[in-house]
Order: sequence, then C-alpha cells, then structure tokens
Amino acid sequence: MNYQTIFDTLASEMADVEDRGHVATYIEALSHVPPDRFGACLIDHQEAEYHLGDSNESFSIQSIAKVLSLTLAYRTAGESLWRRVGVEPSGNPFNSLVQLEYDGGIPRNPFINAGALVICDYLITEMPGVLDVILDLARRLSGNEQLVYSQEIAESERVSGFRNAALVNLMKAFGNIHNDVEAVLDFYFKLCSIKMTCRDLARTFLYLMNNGLQPGLNERIVTKSQSKRINAVMQTCGFYDEAGEFTFRVGLPGKSGVGGGILAVHPQHYGIAVWSPRLNAKGNSYKGMLFLEAFTTRTGLSVF
Ligand code: GLN
Repeated sequence: MNYQTIFDTLASEMADVEDRGHVATYIEALSHVPPDRFGACLIDHQEAEYHLGDSNESFSIQSIAKVLSLTLAYRTAGESLWRRVGVEPSGNPFNSLVQLEYDGGIPRNPFINAGALVICDYLITEMPGVLDVILDLARRLSGNEQLVYSQEIAESERVSGFRNAALVNLMKAFGNIHNDVEAVLDFYFKLCSIKMTCRDLARTFLYLMNNGLQPGLNERIVTKSQSKRINAVMQTCGFYDEAGEFTFRVGLPGKSGVGGGILAVHPQHYGIAVWSPRLNAKGNSYKGMLFLEAFTTRTGLSVF
C-alpha cells in the first residue's frame, strides 16, 4: 500500500474543507496553539514512516497520555486493576461528575478523567518518582530523548482544574483515592502536559499494533492479552461520548486529546497519529477525525 500517495491526495482534498472546530480554551495555555496546524504520521509493521505536514512539531498530547499511564499501571497491577476502574463506555463527557456518584466512586473506564485520576493514584502508590518513570518510558518507546512535559500547560491546567479537583475529592470520599488529592492532581496535570510530535506518538504506541512487543526495541511492554484489552478499551472508550461515532466513521481503536491529537492503531498493520488543534463539540479533533475517516475508507484498512 502506498501510504504516502494516499496521504498527499487526502491532504490536497482536505485543504479546502472548512474546519468547523475550535481550539480548547478552558485550559488557557492551549488557546495559544496555532489553530491551523495539521500533521500526520503513519508507521507500518515494517517500521517504514510516512509523514504529512506538521508531523515533526510537538504539541500537548493531553488525554492520549492516559494510554501510557494505563499501560504502566496494567502491566504492574495485572487484572486487579479493574477492581478500581471499569471497562464500560461512559456515554458522558470526559470530565463529567454525574455517573461517578451513582457508581460509588468507581469510574467507568481509564480514559475519562475520573478513571485516569484513579490510575494516577495507583501509580503514585506503586512507584516512587512516577513522573520520571513515565517520562523515561515515553522516551524509550518514542526514541525521542528530548521528550518533556510543558510546565506552562501543567500550571494552566492546575489553575482551571476545578472539575478534576472535584472528581478526585469525590472518589476520595468513596475510598477510591489513597494518596493526597494535590499529589494526584499534580501528577495528572503533568502527565497530560507531555509534548510529542505525530511521529513520537505513532512510534510510542507501536506495541499496541504488535501484540504488546515494541518493534525496534524488541521489548515486551505488555502481554498479548493486555495489548488486546487496551485496544478494546480504546475502541469502546477512547473518544468519550463520541466513541461510537469514531468507531462508526474510522473503525480503529484510538485515543484523542484536547490538544488536537489523535492516535489510532490497526493491529498488525500500522500506528497512525494526526494533529489538528480545532476540536468538535465533544472535544475531539474535527479535521483529525475527518482525515482518519477518509484514510481508512480510501485504504480499506480498518479492523472492521
Ligand atoms: N487535561 C485534560 C483535562 O483534564 C485532558 C482532557 C482531554 O484531553 N480530553 O481536562
């Protein structure tokens, strides 16, 4: 499959498509991102790379980092992790509080904010210096030694993080947060503020394309079963209350972030990352979704 030709064709077709999205503003630092950036990178099973546009410019990966934290927690805790967080789609926005009260402080899945906060709490308990542990993992997987989080974005998240603070406090009241509330929030905000390029993202998560084994490093990151299950949760929960729509239109397991990035994998075939900062009403990249929809339609390569 000549992915580069398809990339270039889609890019010229999409150039005229109106971007109906809006850059995230509830985190003030994200509102400064140039809204018209567009990048994509695909890495196939033979590790060949295909690039488009701003694929080497770094951006805030936001909730895509929740795949990294889930990976680290799952490979440490094994199946006992699911006592503290579920695997059901929420059908609600990523920062919603309502369901959590009904569900007794057990978040529906690890990709809504509540679930990611529980995972952060678990990791803080299990791993001293967890921020460095996760940054090291990200550097190793991406092959980018320069990878960092943005202090400016983390601080910006903190000053407007009222909902996240409410989620942690509510779960603490239910006994599902074991550490200091501030420590959990601090790690969570820094995690979401990790910056990567489309190329970094596509490479980092290649183990999910390859049954848990990271190509290049030849290192087992998670078991084959865990890789299947992380992909399953991405498929059903990766886009919050738009997970069905993403599956319907794109047909790949994936994860979005409010920085405008989307990471998706086609097991055994490729990992792909796209970045376009303007978001739709559900907080997912407007053009990013359009691009991936066109890509899987044109190539006929999706999991369905
Ligand atoms: N850091 C963001 C928040 O907590 C992550 C949300 C997202 O990317 N969907 O609101």
